[in-house]
Amino acid sequence: MKLVLFGAPGSGKGTQAEMLCAKLGIPSISTGNILRQAIQDGTPVGMRAEKYISAGQLVADDVMIDIIRDRLNQPDCANGFILDGFPRTLNQAQALDTLGVEIDVVLSLEISDDMVEKRLSGRRVCLNCGSVYNVEYFKPKTENVCDACGHALVRRSDDEPETVRARLKVFNETVEPVKDYYEKRGKLKLVICDEDKMVVYVRALEQLGLKP
Ligand code: AMP
Repeated sequence: MKLVLFGAPGSGKGTQAEMLCAKLGIPSISTGNILRQAIQDGTPVGMRAEKYISAGQLVADDVMIDIIRDRLNQPDCANGFILDGFPRTLNQAQALDTLGVEIDVVLSLEISDDMVEKRLSGRRVCLNCGSVYNVEYFKPKTENVCDACGHALVRRSDDEPETVRARLKVFNETVEPVKDYYEKRGKLKLVICDEDKMVVYVRALEQLGLKP
């Protein structure tokens, strides 16, 4: 299955992508994670992307399309994949078609701006193993310490309230053309994500015609 998870920052794309990837046995590809790794590694792409990410802006389409083309050419994508965070613009959606990548389903994770602000202000991540927590909804056993690997938890720099507002603004300006594009092709399915991740997961599976 070739699946896209589409949604605002904080809608739970990463969490759902991981759960679906375990269920479906296909890789989950997060363009945000690829960019953060590139920044950490100091690659030319990372250096180019950093200022956009920290300002809550989108990285240029040509950079993103190159990244996704290279990633989808890897052998582990041969039987399908879950895209988390790509496409984010109409250009990127059209680029998948140009690359000959036929998406089966786009799950659009629907969430209000208020809920996004609440979720992201409490999100804490482990930079060592990538685990994600929330100070309100999903606390680690020890405050600010990762349950999985014991490293310190931090707030992502782009989860600062001002950057979250910028990210939401960008999302709200770009969301409709992408949704329209897939709706016209009969591929768009909505998943309301105002509840716990397990409830959302079951809704996502239902939209894919799968049982938990
Ligand atoms: P995410 O982890 O998906 O929230 O992405 C973090 C940041 O990476 C975004 O706010 C953008 O700056 C950048 N980014 C990730 N994916 C894309 C994309 N498909 N197009 C443009 N920028 C992206």
